[in-house]
Amino acid sequence: MKNLLRDRVALVTGAGSGIGRAAAIAFARAGARVVVSDVDPEKGAETARMMPAPATCIQADVSVTSQVKHLIRQAVDLYGSLDCAFNNAGIEGAIARFHEYPDTVWDRIIRVNLKGTWLCMKYELRQMLKQGKGAIVNTSSTAGHVGSRGRMSAYIASKHGVLGLTRTAAVEYGAKGIRVNALCPGAVQTPMTERLLGADDERAERMAQFIPMARFGTPDEIAKAAVWLCSDAASYVNGLALPIDGGYLAH
Ligand code: NAP
Repeated sequence: MKNLLRDRVALVTGAGSGIGRAAAIAFARAGARVVVSDVDPEKGAETARMMPAPATCIQADVSVTSQVKHLIRQAVDLYGSLDCAFNNAGIEGAIARFHEYPDTVWDRIIRVNLKGTWLCMKYELRQMLKQGKGAIVNTSSTAGHVGSRGRMSAYIASKHGVLGLTRTAAVEYGAKGIRVNALCPGAVQTPMTERLLGADDERAERMAQFIPMARFGTPDEIAKAAVWLCSDAASYVNGLALPIDGGYLAH
């Protein structure tokens, strides 16, 4: 993947942990100048310290318009362009039956996962339209394709919504030189998954048995796909919702 993104400027949100952290490192390894962004400035700074090349860290809550505007403006002021954007920040929310799901948690999940992705896309697209090119990758999930018994209705609705945003923007902006795609990871070993499973190794084992490859994915396996989708190697790929799930959605 070395040099796949040489001289490109890449933004990664939710880069303080898990998939976002692995992606920030993978983008840098591919030659990009990377803007590391997270709601938690300490975790963002920690990722920046792990990068193979100097990176800029900008704190932003993706669900707040003024912070997203500031993030994109800062990135462009610093590096002159925004070529790749990986809109990855997301939260899991509550585990509760559909009819008992708390309204406040619903609002928060939709605000961060759906509105946050939309806001980032909105301001990234404005910049990419000025440039006449760009590549956006959003993080959806296998939960963007199918429902589940996991008692995560808000999360699942938000990730279906991310695919709607991806497809709409891909259709609207394809002729303007901007490609928009989504990743749909299955179960990946990250702090989010650890929070969901707790210390229940047996549950993790049982979950893995539903995956044709009989294991969880690693953050790096998702990160590599984000790099590829942002690169010219994927120059005719637009509007894709790419499962990276060990074959989970195949059955
Ligand atoms: P993670 O380890 O929890 O990392 C998510 C990062 O996003 C955290 O650093 C988090 O900060 C940050 N974040 C949360 N709210 C934010 C906001 N409003 N603005 C900016 N940053 C924010 O989770 P992950 O597993 O890497 O998940 C990354 C993405 O992949 C998410 O969109 C998730 O839904 C998706 N995904 C994950 C899996 C999986 O199995 N792990 C599967 C499919 C899809 P705090 O920790 O401070 O909140």
